[in-house]
This record gives sequence, structure tokens and C-alpha cells, in this order.
Amino acid sequence: MSSHRSLGSRPSIPGFLSNLARRPRPGRDGAKDEAPPVIKLKSPREIGLMREAGRVVAKALDQVRQMAAPGVTTADMEHVVAAVFREHDAKPLFLGYPSSDKGKPPFPAVICASINEQVVHGIPNRRPLREGDVVSIDTGCSVNGWCGDAAVTLAIGQPSPQTQKLLAVTIETLDLAIRAMGRCRYWSEVASLMDRYVKSQGFYVIEKFVGHGIGQTMHEEPQVPNFVSKTLRKFDIKLEPGLVMAIEPMVAIGTKEVRTLSDGWTVETKDRRASAHFEHTVAMTVDGPRILTLLEDDPAAEPRLAPAERLAASTP
Ligand code: MG
Repeated sequence: MSSHRSLGSRPSIPGFLSNLARRPRPGRDGAKDEAPPVIKLKSPREIGLMREAGRVVAKALDQVRQMAAPGVTTADMEHVVAAVFREHDAKPLFLGYPSSDKGKPPFPAVICASINEQVVHGIPNRRPLREGDVVSIDTGCSVNGWCGDAAVTLAIGQPSPQTQKLLAVTIETLDLAIRAMGRCRYWSEVASLMDRYVKSQGFYVIEKFVGHGIGQTMHEEPQVPNFVSKTLRKFDIKLEPGLVMAIEPMVAIGTKEVRTLSDGWTVETKDRRASAHFEHTVAMTVDGPRILTLLEDDPAAEPRLAPAERLAASTP
């Protein structure tokens, strides 16, 4: 689930606030006397625990991917994801998430399902998906107290060539970001690459919502924009071992401007043209970035053992 960019309107989760209560609020663009965000780095053991949650999220999204076809509803997808979480004793992170708008209801589902012009935070419903739709499914869970968060945008049948290009560009943006994390020192370098790539393809990066640190809570410091924000220029994020972030480019065909619907959650593009969203939880390790929300470990992201060690490790 993406994080609203300004900290001031972030939902008031007691645990999250208690972490922030003892220090000045950072992160608001333009504010004076800001303190840098306090980032909790994770140990290799903790990253291993987060991998378990990430694997459950990946399994849930894989099942959703397999059922994506005309006639299926996002409510059907909700049931499938909830069942995967139950099977693994995983706690859904989105269900009951408080709204940042006072008086609006908490999020009512275990997935966000955002169709076509909807960018993020759509609520699953019983409208059958149609040929040519695109639907973004975002979900997260915790296992033994550690969180994972990921999203995919799925094509239903054959969307228009432009919408297919949107999906390709958005997943390429996530992919290039993760690869760049292995050779960049600061997130601003990665964010700049993402932003420039999207613009080079004629599309728009949504700026109102951003990725986020993640650990024992879903939304931790730092905020992780997909462009170089003023806050990022001031408090850049050092890409060091132990940093774990949910990286989630949101890309739109016609505008970066969005609005929130009266349900208090669903965010759509102002021009009502399509947008796409892909997300992985990624840990920086001494061996480079490691994607925690994959079904199978990515061999390239696994620790590189010397051939002799590898042989020894595989000997029964
Ligand atoms: Mg997220």
C-alpha cells in the first residue's frame, strides 16, 4: 500500500505515532527545522523473517494473476488473497487501516483493487472485470510480526496498445530501480532514473503517493518517492545494508494529477485515463538488493558463494 506523501496527513496508527512522538516531525516539504527521518535498519535475521511475509504476499498475488480474466470480480480476488493469508497464519495489513481523512471509514478489505483510471487504494467490488480493463492489486501481510507489501497491475484480455505500453513501462521502472539500487549510493539517484525513464516514454509519475520503509509496521521511515522531491534532496536515503523499503512506482498515461473519491480511499487520475502500479519489498544486503516479495528467490539476488562453497552447500 502506498504512503500518502505528506506526513501530516498520514493515518494515525498508535504504534507508528509512538515512534515519532519523541522527536520533531520530519518530511514535510518546505517546513523549517526538520529533523532527518530515523530509519530502522534490519539485521540479516530480520530480513529473513520479512522474506517469509514477502513469500506469502507473492503467493497471494500469483493466485490473483492466474485468475485475472473477463467476468472475474475483484471481490473474488479478495476472497482468494484472504484464504492464502489464513492458510499461512498471516495477518492482513490493509484490512482496518485507518483513513487519513477524519471521519472516513478504515480500509475495508485485504487487497486494494484499482481498475483502469484508479491509481491506488481502490476497494474490491462485484463488478465483473471486462476485456481490456487493467486492474492493480496491492496487498500486504505480516508473518510473526514482520511485514511484506507488493502490488501488480494485471491486463484483462487485451488492453489497448497504449495501456499495454503503460504496464510495460511501469514494471520496467520498478525493475530498473531495483537494479540501480545495487550501484547507486543514494535513493535520489535511483528516483531520478525512474522519473526520467517514465518521462522519456511520454508518461507521468504520480507524485502524491510514494513508497515507504517497512519492517514490523507497514509504513516506516523513510518515504520513498519515485522522483526527486525537495525532502529527498534535503534528507537523501543512503542505500546501505539493512535498509528495507517498499518501492512502488505509480505511472499514468495523461497526467500526474489525482483525486480521492467520496469513499475516502479510491484515488483516480483527474483525466480518468489509465494508470498502473507495481511494487516490491526490497532489502539492501551486503550482496546488493534482494527482492523479498518474489515467489521463488531470484538467483541473481542471492548471496554469491564461491564455487567451492556452493558445492559444499549443495552436498547432502
Ligand atoms: Mg506499499
